Amino acid sequence: MSTSLTNLLQVNQLTKHFEVPVTGGWINRSASLRAVDGISFNLNEGRTLGLVGESGCGKTTAARLVLGLLKPTTGSIVFEGREISATRNAEWRSTRKRMQMVYQNPLGALDRRLKVIDQVTEPLKIHQIEETHTQIEKAQNLLGELGLSSTHWHRYPHELSGGQRQRVVLARAMILSPKLLVCDEPVSALDVSIQAQVINLLQDVQDKYGIASLFISHDLKVVRQVSHNVAVMYLGKIVEQAPPEVLFKSPQHPYSQALISAIPSVIHRKNHGRVLLQGDPPNPLFLKPGCSFAPRCHKAMPVCFESQPQLTQINDQHLAACHLITMDAAC
Ligand code: SF4
Repeated sequence: MSTSLTNLLQVNQLTKHFEVPVTGGWINRSASLRAVDGISFNLNEGRTLGLVGESGCGKTTAARLVLGLLKPTTGSIVFEGREISATRNAEWRSTRKRMQMVYQNPLGALDRRLKVIDQVTEPLKIHQIEETHTQIEKAQNLLGELGLSSTHWHRYPHELSGGQRQRVVLARAMILSPKLLVCDEPVSALDVSIQAQVINLLQDVQDKYGIASLFISHDLKVVRQVSHNVAVMYLGKIVEQAPPEVLFKSPQHPYSQALISAIPSVIHRKNHGRVLLQGDPPNPLFLKPGCSFAPRCHKAMPVCFESQPQLTQINDQHLAACHLITMDAAC
C-alpha cells in the first residue's frame, strides 16, 4: 500500500552569487562567485535529502539559503506552501521556528556559559512559548528521550562528551517542534564509535515526529544510510540526484562515479575499479564555458568544453547532468 507524502519544501532554481574583489592589474574589479547556481529539489515531510560533494561545492550555502541566513540572488524557496525567500516579516519568523539547524561542531553551537537545561529552554524563552515550569518540564522530557538523564541537566557543555553535546544540540533544535532539520555534517566532529549512536538517534526522532531533514555530509556511507534521496553537488550545481539504492548502485555522472568508487567497501567489490579524480576543482571565479567538471573528467569529449550539460531525467527517480546521458538517450 503506498503512503502519500506531503511536500514540505520546494527549492526552485535557487542561486546565490557573491561579488568578490579580484586583485592584480591596474584596475580594481570584481568577479561573481556562483556559490549556488540554479539548484532545484523537493523534500517531503518525514523524508531526508542527502547533499554531498567536495568542500566548497555549495552544500552549506544551500542550507543557509533554505534557513534564511542568506538572501538568494534569484530563485524561490517554498516551505509549507509559502514562499519564504523574499520576506522577513512576522509570518516568516513564525515559519522559521519550524526549521532548525544541527551544527557540525556541538561545542561551538552551544553557549559555554549556560547549563544544559538552560540551553534547551532558551528557544522557548526567546519565542515566549509556555510558562517557565512547562518549559523546564518539556526540556527535561526531551533530554531524557535523547538519552541525557538528570545527572546531565545541570552541567555545562565542557563537562559533557562530544556525543552528549550533540544530543543537547539536537534537543535545542527539537524543542520548538520543527518540521525540518538542516543537519550540516552533524557527526563529522564525533568519534566513529559515537557517530552511529547519534545517527540512529536522529533517525529515531525523525521517524517518531515525522521530521524532514536536509542532511549535508561528505561521508557518503552516512548519507547512504540516512537518506531517501541524494543530490550530488559540484561547483554550485546539482549534477546527479537519485534515491541512494539507485545512485550508489548505478551512478551515471562521472563525478558521482569517482566519489562512490572512493568508498572503501565499494572499492573492493569485484569489477569496481577506483575512478581517480584528476587535479583540483577549477577556480569558481573564472569558470570556462561548458561542463565545469570537464577539466577533471576522464570521459570528457570536445562538446563538454563548449556546452554546459543540463540536468536530465534518466527515469522518474534519477536525474543527471552529463552529455553522455543525452547522447545515450539519442542513440
Ligand atoms: Fe564529463 Fe562531459 Fe559528462 Fe561533464 S558532460 S561530466 S565533462 S562527460
